[in-house]
Amino acid sequence: MTAAQPRRRSSRKVWVDSVAVGGGAPVVVQSMTNTDTADAAATAQQVHELARAGSELVRITVNSADAARQVMRIREQLDRLGCPVPLVGDFHFNGHKLLTQFPDCAEALAKYRINPGNVGRGAKRDEQFATMIELACRHGKPVRIGVNWGSLDPELLARMMDENGRLPEPREADEVMREALIVSALDSAGRAEALGLAGDRIVLSCKVSGVQDLIAVYRSLAARCDYPLHLGLTEAGMGSKGIVASTAALSVLLQEGIGDTIRISLTPDPGGDRSREVVVAQEILQTMGLRSFAPMVIACPGCGRTTSTVFQELASRIQSYLRNQMPVWREQYPGVENMHVAVMGCVVNGPGESRHANVGISLPGSGETPVAPVYVDGEKTVTLKGDTIAEEFQKIVEDYVRTHYGSGGVPRSPEQEQAGRRDRTIPVKAAS
Ligand code: SF4
Repeated sequence: MTAAQPRRRSSRKVWVDSVAVGGGAPVVVQSMTNTDTADAAATAQQVHELARAGSELVRITVNSADAARQVMRIREQLDRLGCPVPLVGDFHFNGHKLLTQFPDCAEALAKYRINPGNVGRGAKRDEQFATMIELACRHGKPVRIGVNWGSLDPELLARMMDENGRLPEPREADEVMREALIVSALDSAGRAEALGLAGDRIVLSCKVSGVQDLIAVYRSLAARCDYPLHLGLTEAGMGSKGIVASTAALSVLLQEGIGDTIRISLTPDPGGDRSREVVVAQEILQTMGLRSFAPMVIACPGCGRTTSTVFQELASRIQSYLRNQMPVWREQYPGVENMHVAVMGCVVNGPGESRHANVGISLPGSGETPVAPVYVDGEKTVTLKGDTIAEEFQKIVEDYVRTHYGSGGVPRSPEQEQAGRRDRTIPVKAAS
């Protein structure tokens, strides 16, 4: 069966170097470094890692003259590494000065992120915002007008709160706050266009940290403009909390066709892998059937029918193996990202689920004969046993990839690629 796709909200297409955002383009995955941008080597290395993990845009902080001075060097290092990922500069407070003083920085960046709440105060705010927009026009760069409720323009919020207080039936303060976020984004976009920036050079975002607030804000924002929207739950948090909150918020919006680019703002463990946020973003899009990035491993959760850890270890091994191959396989084996591999714990659902996958293995549960039948494209091809099941199964997966996705492999129809799983009707054995 072909997976049903939600109807996407219609939006303008914005080009960020060679990456299209909006206008029907696939939802773009982006991420942000947490290195000191003034340390060009460390930043280039992390950008490279994020890009290898699949980040299609990478944002870097540009907060000082030292940072701005290094941006061109970072770009050059990435180019030497053969990593063309576009860099987005994140500016607060002094962006107008840095972009003016360091034209090579302004040129090396593919997009500028401007936070209207952090551009300046009073009369300076308009002037400094205008300078950044003029520089974007001069260098031919798009901008993201990125409002964040932690730095919402205090003058705008105060004015809207006052106006609300004078209404016969004032709205709740939360509602006014949400409206202020949207007004800040839309007014700033309108000003940018009035200053000469083309409408197809503007992306908007309005980030908050509450799931329900984010959904409400983006639904309203999406209905009131046709700029492409960058989605993300700000300050999502650490570990499973951050992943669950981001997934809950983004999946509702994506299902409604809202969102043209996403970032998952996870707080990594100290020294943790920054690329985790890229993997989570990809997994949200892939599990929703919106895009495919890496072969999917289907594994049962395990239960009292399999008390050994063999199948967990095999599932983990295969998942890591497949993901680690992707930087090379992406180019070498187009379509491999749609592959499904099943690793199952016992005979109850093992053979059935394995037949649905491109390649599947049903490991023996407690008390079952210690053999592991392997299924390829729905047919049982071999039964593995002994101490080398993991190695042999990995080899079968590897051979499948080489013969089915490499040049000379079996071509798959667009519908099959779209469907993810093999588009076949397979008799499933009765499962308890
Ligand atoms: S496939 Fe077997 S081991 Fe896995 S959850 Fe189902 S019954 Fe339990």
